[in-house]
Amino acid sequence: MPPIYDKPTTDKYDLIMIGGGSGGSACSRRAASYGKKVAVIEMSGILGGTCVNVGCVPKKIMWHAADLQEKITHHTKGYHIKGDAAVPKFDWATFKPQRDAYIRKLNGIYANNFEKEGVEHHHGFGRLASATTIEVTRPDGQKYILNTDHICVATGGYPTKPSDEEIPGASLGIDSDGFFALEEQPKRVAVVGAGYIAVELAGVFNALGSETHLIIRGETVLRTFDPAIQEALTPWMEHTGLHLHKSSKVAKIVGEKGKTLTVTTDKGETIEVDALVWAIGRQASTAGLGLEELGVKLDAKGDVVVDEYQNSNVKGITAIGDVQGKALLTPVAIAAGRRLSNRLFGPPEFKDDKLSYEDIPTVVFSHPTIGTVGLTEPEARKKYGDTVKIYKTSFRSLYFSMIEEEHKEPSMFKLVCVGPEERVVGIHILGAGSDEMLQGFAVAVKMKARKRDLDDTVAIHPTSAEELVTLR
Ligand code: FAD
Ligand code: NDP
Repeated sequence: MPPIYDKPTTDKYDLIMIGGGSGGSACSRRAASYGKKVAVIEMSGILGGTCVNVGCVPKKIMWHAADLQEKITHHTKGYHIKGDAAVPKFDWATFKPQRDAYIRKLNGIYANNFEKEGVEHHHGFGRLASATTIEVTRPDGQKYILNTDHICVATGGYPTKPSDEEIPGASLGIDSDGFFALEEQPKRVAVVGAGYIAVELAGVFNALGSETHLIIRGETVLRTFDPAIQEALTPWMEHTGLHLHKSSKVAKIVGEKGKTLTVTTDKGETIEVDALVWAIGRQASTAGLGLEELGVKLDAKGDVVVDEYQNSNVKGITAIGDVQGKALLTPVAIAAGRRLSNRLFGPPEFKDDKLSYEDIPTVVFSHPTIGTVGLTEPEARKKYGDTVKIYKTSFRSLYFSMIEEEHKEPSMFKLVCVGPEERVVGIHILGAGSDEMLQGFAVAVKMKARKRDLDDTVAIHPTSAEELVTLR
């Protein structure tokens, strides 16, 4: 078993990270690769943070299960995959332990990598006692001090939930962490929110056969995404049987956790469910860190304010990942962390290394998936006015040609171009395979490709992706 440290092994570390999640692991390992002495303080006792334990990884596994169930239930018939057996059905209760075991395996891989690369894993709560001193409180309550000239805050965030004062019975609901703890599949479930997590979790429940209610404040899901994405996904979610409660807010919840909950909306609707999941955003984990006492600036939302080099306003204290509030995505935390260590400890050519937060590609694991990079049409129009030109197509992928009409998923691809040279400043795609399609096109956007460059690229046929190089 890789060691977990419970005291300092040196008078002074080159770098101390608070948080052993995506950002903390990447930043510390990169620093160690330059021969630096690095300690990571992680309060949970396991490494990998949100993404590995209660985020991207178990979520994507559940998405795969849901995707497979959808195909088995709705698509096999069209392809004449026949047989007498009843439609196989996902078994949540036996699958969850298998999923958990895989996550434990990943925790072990993280720990082994730390050991191999000489990063110390300290199990405890980290607090900045000064700009050069961290106080670690071990699980047994004992405290010790670590010293350094470089502290990096990578404490991530946690799901937001309304209080019982704000919404009576709110605490009867669970959040995304609670989703991953569910031992059984709820037969009926309500998900509240309209962002990434709400759309993804509601999609999983719905595809796996739970009666799923999605309660949203507006008229569409993913309101920060390009309007064409919102307009394509929202009706399709309803079409697939998901009960969408639009322009609705939860007014109260009564019942007992684990038993039936009665949810009442501000429109007077009542919904009976077995579980309610709050997915209404996340909050930076800064409580008890000692940041305000040291004068580290937080913004109105509670995120650590950093400059383009991840520096806070206090010398020697940096922050990366979700805690700095910009682009809450694992690869962003990793990229910022590696670049920070490159800049602080790497060779001279890296002395100005930093992450550009522009044109970050992202995917929503909805059904079908969504990929997006760059500016939405409204953002582009605001920035570039009348020089914006839109190319858009809606179609059904060839895969669905054999499938019954009601199960033919939509695809919608959109390019946002600007100026006389029609530089592509935004790509927004929805449809089967969008999640795997976007990465390469994001490279093109990053390289400032023009529409003509896409057109000059010979299509790959028959694929959905070819639509992006043949748009007229
Ligand atoms: P985290 O990974 O949250 O790590 C922070 C760590 O700090 C935690 O382990 C915590 O225990 C520890 N910590 C906090 N305070 C202290 C303290 N005082 N002392 C010691 N330790 C402390 N992103 C994607 O790119 N793709 C996805 O598909 C995706 N899906 C997601 C699905 C869900 C349900 C959720 C919730 C998130 C998802 N994300 C996804 C976002 C992604 O998980 C985060 O952006 C990423 O984990 C942020 O990394 P981080 O290092 O900033 O923080
Ligand atoms: P988001 O910020 O994406 O969405 C939360 C949404 O909830 C808001 O957009 C808002 O939508 C709605 N909302 C906010 N407050 C309330 C309220 N009081 N009542 C009802 N609805 C409310 O947060 P998530 O929690 O979904 O995800 C956090 C972040 O994690 C994401 O932004 C993303 O960066 C990351 N993530 C990435 C994933 C991926 O890469 N695939 C997957 C999951 C998470 P509206 O204004 O329309 O009501």
